[in-house]
Amino acid sequence: MLQQVNGHSSGSDAQGRESLREDLQEFLGGEVPLHQLDDLTKVNPVTLETVLRCLQARYTADTFYTNAGCTLVALNPFKPVPQLYSPELMREYHAAPQPQKLKPHIFTVGEQTYRNVRSLIEPVNQSIVVSGESGAGKTWTSRCLMKFYAVVAASPTSWESHKIAERIEQRILNSNPVMEAFGNACTLRNNNSSRFGKFIQLQLNRDHQMTGAAIQTYLLEKTRVACQDSTERNFHIFYQICKGASADERLQWHLPEGAAFSWLPNPERTLEEDCFEVTREAMLHLGIDAPTQNNIFQALAGLLHLGNIRFADSGDEAQPCRPMDDGAVRTSALLLRLPEDPLLETLRIRTIRAGRQQQVFRKPCSQAECDTRRDCLAKLVYARLFDWLVSVINSSVCADPASWTTFIGLLDVYGFESFPHNSLEQLCINYANEKLQQHFVAHYLRAQQEEYAVEGLEWSFVNYQDNQTCLDLIEGSPISICSLINEECRLNRPSSAAQLQTRIESALAGSPCLGHNKLSPEPSFVVLHYAGSVRYHTVGLVEKNKDPIPPELTRLLQQSQDTLLKVLFPADPEEKSQEEPSGQSRAPVLTVVSKFKASLEQLLQVLQATTPHYIRCIKPNSQGRAQALHREEVLNQLEACGLVETIHISAAGFPIRVSHRTFVERYASLRRLHPRAPPDPHSPSPDEGHSEGSPHAEQATLRALLQDILHTLPALEAATPAA
Ligand code: ATP
Ligand code: MG
Repeated sequence: MLQQVNGHSSGSDAQGRESLREDLQEFLGGEVPLHQLDDLTKVNPVTLETVLRCLQARYTADTFYTNAGCTLVALNPFKPVPQLYSPELMREYHAAPQPQKLKPHIFTVGEQTYRNVRSLIEPVNQSIVVSGESGAGKTWTSRCLMKFYAVVAASPTSWESHKIAERIEQRILNSNPVMEAFGNACTLRNNNSSRFGKFIQLQLNRDHQMTGAAIQTYLLEKTRVACQDSTERNFHIFYQICKGASADERLQWHLPEGAAFSWLPNPERTLEEDCFEVTREAMLHLGIDAPTQNNIFQALAGLLHLGNIRFADSGDEAQPCRPMDDGAVRTSALLLRLPEDPLLETLRIRTIRAGRQQQVFRKPCSQAECDTRRDCLAKLVYARLFDWLVSVINSSVCADPASWTTFIGLLDVYGFESFPHNSLEQLCINYANEKLQQHFVAHYLRAQQEEYAVEGLEWSFVNYQDNQTCLDLIEGSPISICSLINEECRLNRPSSAAQLQTRIESALAGSPCLGHNKLSPEPSFVVLHYAGSVRYHTVGLVEKNKDPIPPELTRLLQQSQDTLLKVLFPADPEEKSQEEPSGQSRAPVLTVVSKFKASLEQLLQVLQATTPHYIRCIKPNSQGRAQALHREEVLNQLEACGLVETIHISAAGFPIRVSHRTFVERYASLRRLHPRAPPDPHSPSPDEGHSEGSPHAEQATLRALLQDILHTLPALEAATPAA
């Protein structure tokens, strides 16, 4: 029936007795100092306040991991704790007969997952969902878990296979610095913030060794290439090339020391992530050779120079804007190996096809339009480069499908976000978090309560927040926020931000998850997410969702003589005309939201076919300081992830889940030493009314039996000489 989670080795050794006593005392409500409570289901009563106090006490005692029923809570230490992640400790968790008896750790989750996947009876693919807000430690945790598997899932039998195993594990680990160099950036919340979501599938062969991996990424924040907050930074790789290039490379890439780039804010801020050598080395291990790397970095330098192009209005609508610095145009054209004049022309002039004859019109762009086209060009190159890198990494680490049988998936996605100004990016991110929360609710909260019901256990249902209503609001059919934004894109009509707000508010007025939009000077709407309410601004939302790429830009890039850009922008097989059609004749666009929704659904399908495990990362303070836990900030995060509901269900449920048979086998000998206490007239006799092994029999006897055993311990100790 129930799976054994918290068992003990039987026998009479002193250590076994001691841990048995601890377990029983904890179970029966004995006093254990807060910082020693390894599982939040044992705090009494379970409230936000008591949970917080327990976590705080543990944090002060440098204990960063705590169980919360099925979830592991991970507090970010914000300081190096090398002994917590050593290979020796990994092996200790791996070798432990019962890793869950060791201190809570991500390695417990890692090992449990690994054991499940190795189960001889029914191996099931596993997934570990790591969640938490920006800077909470998701990427760190995923990285550590990858290292854990690289250590424990590598047990080669021969020297040759050892070499192969080492190579593949090393390559998988090498994907991290590369992905982080190109996909992470310093933000207000985290110096190494992932600006994309990642699901990595670690593939295991029949002998349970890691033979490969497959990486899927989600929604890279490509706008960052061309637009950064003055307090933040561009992607790390740009700083790495500027700081780490050799003298020759500086010449070749036109990056003299101290050169100023408008897309490179805060270059003076040095981070440990700025290590160019590490990125290059990792790229090399992944099969990206030096000439290809050179190509990549040269193109990136080209983008930096592109960002320095400024336009001045010509003062005449019929005349295109003037570039304020010819040097920037020339250098970026040179580095991207594009013809200079067409580059300038494409940035400044729009071509439109119209009329029956599909005549081509050339319309000079305004200064703002020129800037948009320049930014769009950079985003286009960077996004394709990122996708290409992911595909190269995948081909380097992916195993032959015939060589692997099971997998462990690690999901590291951006956490719930709420800023003073929220747009389409936040809508997508929070939508993803709603989906993952629903997956959690369905898989754990609902499933566990339903299991109790099926087993006929006395149980009053704990109310948890089912976020289906919010998901209906965001993605439901026929009408939802996504469908309304998509419709605006499809109709391709000029509509104002205020109109979009009105449409959303009137069409979805019935949804309890649409908040009251009071006192906002800007057009916006409010969604009451499970993790809190967020106001989304509607200005620019439709345009962002369309993410239009003027066809002239793609065509320009197809003219590049650069080997890398030729791969990123292959020439069209049919030279069909690609001028921007005017008016209503535009083909339906695949919007950002539609693409994101499809990839999210795919992810959920994969997750649903696995046994999930959850790690909730918590950020103790927003300054990234060690030994400082800010109560308010932590409370908000605990609330946002619904941790108390999770603990309630686990605590009100049955924290020790032992089958009746196992229980009797394990503890029967102890019971014989102690005379049976007279039955309590108010509690049903264990043997009355219910057949042995039935859920009711277990429920009725468990507590009495545990009391019994606890009383028996002194007798047992007296009877058995200490080991
Ligand atoms: P984002 O959503 O912005 O990508 P994140 O949750 O992935 O954030 P991380 O980048 O993993 O956050 O962690 C932020 C920083 O916190 C790390 O760069 C590191 O300095 C520190 N950190 C996280 N976990 C640990 C840990 N277990 N031990 C020591 N430092 C840690
Ligand atoms: Mg991250």
